[in-house]
Amino acid sequence: METYSIDGLTITCEKQGADKYIKISYPFRYGKYLEIKSNNYTFQFNLNGEIKTIQGRGEGWLDASEWLKRNAGNDWTYFAAGGYTGAYDFTGEYYVPCLPYDSNGIFGHNRFNSPEVAHAFEAWHQLIDQLSKIDKTGMPRQANDFINRVRSMGPETLKQRAQLFHDIIGGQVSVLPPDTRHVEYDVIPLTIGDGCLYNCGFCRVKSGNSFKLREKENILNQIHQLKRLYDKDSLNYNSIFLGQHDALFAGAELIEFAAKKSYEILELKNSVIKNPKLFLFGSVDSILRADDPFLKILNKLPYETFINIGLESADPETLAQIEKPLNRKKITQAFHKMMEINKQYSNVEVSANFLYGADLPETHLPSILELTRNRLDHFHSKGTIYFSPLENIGAIQEVKNKFTDFKTLCRLPVYMYLIQRL
Ligand code: SF4
Repeated sequence: METYSIDGLTITCEKQGADKYIKISYPFRYGKYLEIKSNNYTFQFNLNGEIKTIQGRGEGWLDASEWLKRNAGNDWTYFAAGGYTGAYDFTGEYYVPCLPYDSNGIFGHNRFNSPEVAHAFEAWHQLIDQLSKIDKTGMPRQANDFINRVRSMGPETLKQRAQLFHDIIGGQVSVLPPDTRHVEYDVIPLTIGDGCLYNCGFCRVKSGNSFKLREKENILNQIHQLKRLYDKDSLNYNSIFLGQHDALFAGAELIEFAAKKSYEILELKNSVIKNPKLFLFGSVDSILRADDPFLKILNKLPYETFINIGLESADPETLAQIEKPLNRKKITQAFHKMMEINKQYSNVEVSANFLYGADLPETHLPSILELTRNRLDHFHSKGTIYFSPLENIGAIQEVKNKFTDFKTLCRLPVYMYLIQRL
């Protein structure tokens, strides 16, 4: 670990974070990164020199244990310590991601309006200016290279790279599966099918298009372009998100192709982060048609696979209100299939989403408990239930009370789903 001091900055050319994702209640970093410390801030960069995190120190920063993190789509997230709000019970995580765009979160204020966050961004811009003026005579080659990389990745370049990233996969990922929280949302997305089967009335993330598979050649092309874009930093990724809204409907052959080719071309075997993971969404119809040979293929992939299914409700009145073209029988069958898969396949975990909203019928929550309590004879740790808040959730305290009551009765883990884009 080579450290170099110049012009009030301490530059560390390569730092090594943890090699696997864990749930932890203090700031923790993963993989390899580069770091510059100034008096008031710690700036961390990925291996391409793109800014990755900013954390303030002392006065002028909101909380010593909180930080800003940037993703490949050029969105920033503020990670707020959730300790005092009991956020862990509600989200399964010690940190609450606060987003700069509209989402469905019930925790965390919008920190992006605070002067502290504005100052942190200014400090990063000033740092890039400062680095361009530094006299690098006699500077060790590694530090010199690092500074050049960071200087070449200014805000305008990062914006262009995010545009390229979205062009490669066919547009912004409007929502990531909730299970991607297990890898701090650090996934490489790959589109294998566009659109979805139902185009439900309530949904804010749908593309509006009917489901259409991508050709293998297109998928391969995406992987090669992503490899070039992620470049040196692909070493820091161990997880793939197969998009968009119903990749499970793509079937065994295409999923296996996409998963294995990504593993091979993106060299996930050599990732500095262990335990590769594959994330995808599925629908009621796609899980119901997933037969044993298909599931055996998923189970044998070189990943732990997380499939998130949108069940939304098991109440006929609610299904009609949210305009989801499914009935209670099919939702119930899909729920049982989820439990069966979770029991039989050690490398596959299916989770389910249900809606939460103040305007939903009284019969909605009991219909979910009918499945997640009455149909199970003991607690199961596999098969998380996520509540996805609708626009009108009512008073926050009432949401928390109802959630806690539900959690106490439910025989599966239950958390809130925060919609995050990429
Ligand atoms: S909930 Fe799922 S299936 Fe329904 S419209 Fe949204 S993405 Fe499509």
